[in-house]
Amino acid sequence: MSRIPSSFDLHSHSTASDGRLTPKELLALAAEQGVKTLALTDHDTIAGLAAAESAAQQHGLQLIRGVELSVSWERRTLHVVGLNIDPDNAELQEGLEYLQTQRTARAQAIAEKLTKLGIEDAWQQVSSAAGDAQVTRTHFARLLVASGIASDLKQAFKRYLGSGKPAYVRADWASLRQAINWIHAAGGLAILAHPMRYPMTARWRERCIAAFKEAGGDGLEVCSGACAAHEVSEAAKLAQRYELLGSIGSDFHGPEQRWLQLGRLAPLPSHLTPVWSRLAA
Ligand code: AMP
Ligand code: MN
Ligand code: MN
Ligand code: MN
Repeated sequence: MSRIPSSFDLHSHSTASDGRLTPKELLALAAEQGVKTLALTDHDTIAGLAAAESAAQQHGLQLIRGVELSVSWERRTLHVVGLNIDPDNAELQEGLEYLQTQRTARAQAIAEKLTKLGIEDAWQQVSSAAGDAQVTRTHFARLLVASGIASDLKQAFKRYLGSGKPAYVRADWASLRQAINWIHAAGGLAILAHPMRYPMTARWRERCIAAFKEAGGDGLEVCSGACAAHEVSEAAKLAQRYELLGSIGSDFHGPEQRWLQLGRLAPLPSHLTPVWSRLAA
């Protein structure tokens, strides 16, 4: 898939969750890459938004205040991105508190499993590396790579952290409806993130998108990260069929993802209504 410099990048991470760059560094990179509108969408937290906002002002960039919520649906995990959210909204904040409690409990359970597998001090190491960030499986994957147990992040997931692997722990995230309601309560738009990346059959994928629409979802991330051309056209078909807005986002986490870049994306197919037509300037 040819990826071109894009004015919009509506999915990215900072050190508030599993990104490598601070919000300030992320915004500086976005400016360098020619991005005009960036959404910061950290996993289950809005803690990076204030710093991102002031950096965006410095660089003359539009920051879309965002978040990426973890959802449990039919025993699977989905990610719903909220765009243009009010970080002061109490309903959203309560939802985030719930998700953060789940995250911490799950992280401790993962650490216990890793300790049983012979990795001592897993919790201590991960929590000190994460600092104030929301702890994600990426943090554990980095520990496994740093200790020489896995050769790279992908292998850490494949052998230890992925669904059904020895250090996998299921979490009770929000329901689809809850996540969408929290985003709407905060005045935002709910976008189903990276729809082609979930490990499910085409039939389940369509069921999932139908359920997302039924629960009040607004848009589909048609171009995500390093997706292939056929994935963009398949996602575009589904967006059209379910009357969902089209979004694009790199899901940038840092330079360790050598296969993608911030602000380098496949263009949104022109027959879709772009989500940015609904984002106030
Ligand atoms: P969590 O929300 O804590 O379960 O962590 C999910 C995060 O792990 C995703 O947002 C990705 O950043 C990362 N991740 C998931 N699967 C993989 C994989 N196979 N390779 C590398 N990173 C992954
Ligand atoms: Mn992530
Ligand atoms: Mn995601
Ligand atoms: Mn993401």
